[in-house]
Amino acid sequence: MDGDKVIVSAALTGSAGTKAQNPALPITPEEIATDAIRCWNLGAAIVHIHVRGDDGLVSCDPALYDRVRTLIREQSPDCDLIINMSTGGGAGVTGDAARREPVKLRPEIASFDAGSVNFAGRVFVNSPQFLDALADDLAEYNVKPEIECFESGMIENARPYIASGAFTPPYWFQFVLGIRGAAPATVKQLLHMAEQLPPQSLWSVCAIGRAQLPMNLAALVIGGHVRTGLEDNHYLSRDVKATNPQLVERLVRLGREIGREPATPAETRQILGLG
Ligand code: ZN
Repeated sequence: MDGDKVIVSAALTGSAGTKAQNPALPITPEEIATDAIRCWNLGAAIVHIHVRGDDGLVSCDPALYDRVRTLIREQSPDCDLIINMSTGGGAGVTGDAARREPVKLRPEIASFDAGSVNFAGRVFVNSPQFLDALADDLAEYNVKPEIECFESGMIENARPYIASGAFTPPYWFQFVLGIRGAAPATVKQLLHMAEQLPPQSLWSVCAIGRAQLPMNLAALVIGGHVRTGLEDNHYLSRDVKATNPQLVERLVRLGREIGREPATPAETRQILGLG
């Protein structure tokens, strides 16, 4: 049944991880594109992209995002992956205006961090003014927001954009659980947030560190979608560093074990109403 298909997203790089933490973390556009294609071959329908400058620090440079997209197309012309570009920036590295730049490239999806939150050792600021401007950009460039919610109040922050018609259904939520300062990665929290969603919403979950796989498994069981990848977790198991393809391969295999076949990019476009 198509309704049982699971959308697998791979968050390849993130804004903060380093090669010192995990040598398999893709940093250059070439490395990111190579991992993206590998993850697609293993069942990922969406790749969530952050880019890094020559110094290895997070960047919002549209030229780097464009380079990743171009490399994916060049290296695998039949690759129909859906690209989700981050608008998250990074603390102290990028400003609000720069964070909105990737949207102008018209990726099929871009992240929309629906509120401010303590985030490990910093404050992740997403002011009402920034969210208004980003929502306008997303509508103007016809980009689907992936509404990232780090705690349940952020679901409420998304409602005005739904009510105004700036966001159109189906609404695509990504719950990000287990960040220090935000909602915990527990099944109760996941259920609470899933049940809080507006009508015509779909959801996926990602979770930090060792919570990644258990929350992914909970989502597979209760009918949600899943995000894995090195942005959220560096380990395959205790003391064993992961690669992005390994994380996708394992999650796809476990989904199949309980009848959740991975949705292809084409099926995902239908499910999410893209294009
Ligand atoms: Zn991200």
